[in-house]
Amino acid sequence: MSKSNGPKLTPMLTQYLDIKSQHPGSLLLFRMGDFYETFFEDAKVLSEVAGVTLTSRDARSDHPVPLAGVPYHSIDTYLTRLLRAGITVAICEQVEDPAQAKGLVKRAVVEVISPGTATAPELVDSASGHFCLAWVPGKNELDGWALLDASTGEFRCGQEQATLESLCQRHAVREVIVRESTDSATIRTWQSAMPHMVISLANDAWFHPAFARQTILDHFEVANLTAFGLEDSDRTPAATAAGAVLRYLGSLILKKPAQVTSLRFASRADRLVLDEETLRNLEIFRTFRGETGEGSLIHHIDETLTAMGRRLLEQRLAEALTNLDQINLWHSGIDSALQDRPWRENLRSILRKIGDLERLAARAASGRIGPSALRQVGFSLTALHSLQVAAPEKEHQRHPIVGWLSEVADFEELSEIILQRISEDAPATVRKPGFIADGVHPELDQCRAISNDSKSFLAGLQKQERERTGISTLKVGFNRVFGYYFEVTKKHLDKVPDNFEQKQTLVNACRFHTPELKQAETTILEAEEKADGLETEIFQELITLITNQLGSIHVACQQIAKVDLLLGFAESAEKNQYCRPDCNDSLELSIKAGRHPVVEQLLDHDFIANDTLCDGTDHQVLVLTGPNMGGKSTYLRQVALITLMAQAGGFVPAQSASIGIADRIFTRVGASDNLARGESTFYMEMSETANILHQMSRRSLVILDEIGRGTSTYDGLSLAWAITEFLNNPAGPRPRSVFATHYHQLTELENELPGLVNLRLEVKEWEGKIIFLHSVGPGRSDKSYGIHVARLAGLPETVLQRAQDILSSLSVVDQRDLPALRPADRELPINPVIPNAGQLSLFREAERDALDALHDLDLEKISPMDAFMWLAKIKKQMDD
Ligand code: ATP
Repeated sequence: MSKSNGPKLTPMLTQYLDIKSQHPGSLLLFRMGDFYETFFEDAKVLSEVAGVTLTSRDARSDHPVPLAGVPYHSIDTYLTRLLRAGITVAICEQVEDPAQAKGLVKRAVVEVISPGTATAPELVDSASGHFCLAWVPGKNELDGWALLDASTGEFRCGQEQATLESLCQRHAVREVIVRESTDSATIRTWQSAMPHMVISLANDAWFHPAFARQTILDHFEVANLTAFGLEDSDRTPAATAAGAVLRYLGSLILKKPAQVTSLRFASRADRLVLDEETLRNLEIFRTFRGETGEGSLIHHIDETLTAMGRRLLEQRLAEALTNLDQINLWHSGIDSALQDRPWRENLRSILRKIGDLERLAARAASGRIGPSALRQVGFSLTALHSLQVAAPEKEHQRHPIVGWLSEVADFEELSEIILQRISEDAPATVRKPGFIADGVHPELDQCRAISNDSKSFLAGLQKQERERTGISTLKVGFNRVFGYYFEVTKKHLDKVPDNFEQKQTLVNACRFHTPELKQAETTILEAEEKADGLETEIFQELITLITNQLGSIHVACQQIAKVDLLLGFAESAEKNQYCRPDCNDSLELSIKAGRHPVVEQLLDHDFIANDTLCDGTDHQVLVLTGPNMGGKSTYLRQVALITLMAQAGGFVPAQSASIGIADRIFTRVGASDNLARGESTFYMEMSETANILHQMSRRSLVILDEIGRGTSTYDGLSLAWAITEFLNNPAGPRPRSVFATHYHQLTELENELPGLVNLRLEVKEWEGKIIFLHSVGPGRSDKSYGIHVARLAGLPETVLQRAQDILSSLSVVDQRDLPALRPADRELPINPVIPNAGQLSLFREAERDALDALHDLDLEKISPMDAFMWLAKIKKQMDD
């Protein structure tokens, strides 16, 4: 038999490849001693993404294996880089003591961390949720979704007709999981619409309704899903998504996700859900440029003090309330908080001391917390207790805050235990001993005393040996291989006594043991080992205590979030002079002196407040015209934002506001680009508008900004006209609608459509210049002042002059060719009514004369021959 001399894998690499094959979708960090190593493709990825040097194993062989590694103690830094880059990481540990191992050390993957299920503080933004979303597109039923934040344990699900993109936009989603059988074209479409989203494929079986149901039952140890509102078969899409995401998380961490203590079904009826476009158009979380911070609504109204409060604000803005009782409870809570500043400030000063308890507790439950963070849990629970004591002052007994806090368990004992047991200067990690305080455990104290005594004994021994040997530089040292030793420089080696046993030789010195030193070492190491064990044990006991109360801590966090948000709303109401809206079940939206909450804060001049009256009857569709830069978009958005802020539970930027609750707020802005999706701008505009027209109800608020501008003038006008009629159709839902347009012809509809009201942005012309007054009044505007605005924007004077000439000639054509809309016209198809002569073209004078002549020609009175002659004359005139 011939022996093969071909290249062979080492046993270690064979083991590596075996484990890697079980985790093909993850980058495998393979523990080898003090390093995590990666090989082959993974090594290249680690090197590129995390900036680690790429080397190779067996560099001189014909088949070197690419290799890159990171020290185990700095793993968090590299994990952060990998996860931020959207890479899922499998952590493979040595699962037996190498000293005891016979042959190759056993290794196994102990955890897989994906970008959307990460929990480490450096990976999750405290101001925002960090959700993994399971998405179950429905065939004949609604789409199911479930959101799980592994860093907090927040878990909720729902079902509705929604796109994946809109769910991702609405919630802080970091990763989406879908069935692995999802076709790749669909995934590519999602990926191009959301280039930064991690889309993971999960086992189809996990999405099987029965399997998913069983996953939930097993996790919560319940017999049915009634407690979660998911038992009815018509909630199957939501339950399936919930089971799938729970199973996914469990499969990554390879244990039960203990931080998940509850599941909530989010009913569509209780929420004013904003779709993706509306969130973008109203710049709720990000500005149009995609930036967070200044310019976004959340930035300008956020006065919360805890991460939990901030996350609730985020949730409320994406999904405001629709239940009147709840909304009014919040408004009256803010009202009374505003009337007692000392009470409010006292509670807020306590809130400042509450850390991100929700995430800290979830980290404790998943065993990823260090001593200093555990101490923060103690501080937060102590502050929570103070809040419970401080809130129910006499005159606030019935305040919602007091009610919310009364649902919170008493954690005084737990917080005392934590703070008493964890030492004040506790380190961040359990790798450094000394995190358990003195006086907690007698045996631990004893071990520490022995260790300390022995260390002073060693100091004494060093002094004694220096004197005995006359070697003044002799010193006691320690390393992990040789333990304690005496070190003597080579110069003094001749003075070393006989009882010194040489252990190590260095370039300039030698190291020795003595029986006394060995004895002291044994005592110290034994005491330290024992102390380490005891510290870990006590620490684990604390973790268990917290884990056992995790459900109640989770409830407490939800209540803290509400307290914080309510007081934050009060704070911003006071700072920004907001008023309490009167929310009711009418269809009236009546705002006195309303302002745009963001624009008013960014202007360097005064904001002009404006009134609004929009209702389901006489003022049902408001058609807003006005010059460019006049303030139309600002006004439209302020109406929507005031409604949203009121239903989020807060006060609003107005002198007074009466708000008939809206079930949906839809906003569309004409011709907004969505190149990422590869759809034409105009197509997008129309498909979004179609979506509104299908979904709106009588309770909706529809805001349209220049819909129809993305196509030719006549097509656009026709569409805008037909959309306005549809919104106003007596047989339709007739939602409250505000429509800003540059198609001034639309304003003529005021005389024809009951409930349609014209509004205009006022402007003054003075010495050839225009002054924007930014005030909204009744009536129509018939000029756009586009050229004036272009002048303000600095267009060259020659261009402006030419534009003015063209405008003058166009106006002639416009007036002749674009007849005012007449009542009868609405009965007719649009095309015959509006001369579809193509785009307004720049007719030459001869052409205009020809058209005039044609207009005046009476065909009844002309012979065929004369007609021919007439045509020949006209043609000659035009050719000249
Ligand atoms: P266009 O038709 O060109 O889109 P527009 O009519 O929609 O313009 P906006 O974009 O709403 O105009 O407003 C233009 C600018 O006018 C704003 O950026 C803001 O600086 C200012 N402005 C708008 N409304 C007001 C107001 N009520 N008070 C003071 N300034 C305002």
